[in-house]
Amino acid sequence: MSGRFAPSPTGALHLGNLRTALLAWLAARSTGREFIIRMEDLDRVQAAPEHERGQLADLAAIGLDWDGDVIRQSERFDIYRDALATLDARGLVYECFCSRREVRAEIEAAPNAPHLPPGSYPGTCRTLTTARRDALLADGRTPALRLRASTSMDDGPELIAFDDIVAGHHEGGVDDVVLRRNDGVPAYNLAVVIDDAMQGVTQVVRGDDLLDSTPRQIHLQRLLQLSTPEYGHVPLVFGPDGERLSKRHGSVSLDGLAADGVSPAAVLTELLESCGVEHSRADASRQLSDVARRFDLAGITPGVAVFETAPSTPAGFVLRNAG
Ligand code: GLU
Repeated sequence: MSGRFAPSPTGALHLGNLRTALLAWLAARSTGREFIIRMEDLDRVQAAPEHERGQLADLAAIGLDWDGDVIRQSERFDIYRDALATLDARGLVYECFCSRREVRAEIEAAPNAPHLPPGSYPGTCRTLTTARRDALLADGRTPALRLRASTSMDDGPELIAFDDIVAGHHEGGVDDVVLRRNDGVPAYNLAVVIDDAMQGVTQVVRGDDLLDSTPRQIHLQRLLQLSTPEYGHVPLVFGPDGERLSKRHGSVSLDGLAADGVSPAAVLTELLESCGVEHSRADASRQLSDVARRFDLAGITPGVAVFETAPSTPAGFVLRNAG
């Protein structure tokens, strides 16, 4: 029984990532679970060991600990390949030659069914003829592999409902997700489902940008006969301009804040405050296990948090709740 945090080691963790990690840690510890870290480094072009080291150091600096070794997805390609073969043997995998641009154009011409998340794949290559496939291959195009999520497009998408600890009841459709990218790399939705199951993850706390992908992941779990963890999708942090938090917004990582003279403990205090988590302002990192004892993920402040620089405060910033 574990909770987990699964960052992509492509840069420094920003305050939004740290806040998600903190909530995942508190949720796991408050329910007597282990807490594991998994590096989602499928994208080896961007992922780098120095980012992984930096991210782990930052998590430790705000007082988080984890159990066992850190797992890396880049070392598990064989496992994903086996799962793909299982789905393929059941006739649930097909080749897709569409570029992103082609998918976008297709969606513009014929909008998605109402239950599908924006950008869902319209199923173009489901019915590709052998002649067309051969022509595309001869043209040098390499296919991605997609899941045949429902047996017939005419019946509409498979609908999956679940109760999210934070976001409440959620229902969404499942499109034909990519299982292997056209560069041969396993796709996120497949890898995450396998890893969560194999690592004994029974609680997933992550950013609510992934709420729409959860029905896809539950569908894959069912197809692969894997158990479904409980989910808690927590609000993201945005900049004052309404864009997702990034370096453009100023000092938003521990490094940047340290250069401004801000300690990790002050950052932790502000992060707890922004989630409405009860804590004592004095040295929050020493008291994290006490905080965990009283923590309830369902009771955190809902709605997005907006980052604002606030030089006169101990953390140098505030995360204002924007409802
Ligand atoms: N690796 C993803 C990210 O960094 C998180 C995936 C997950 O938690 O399922 O956004």
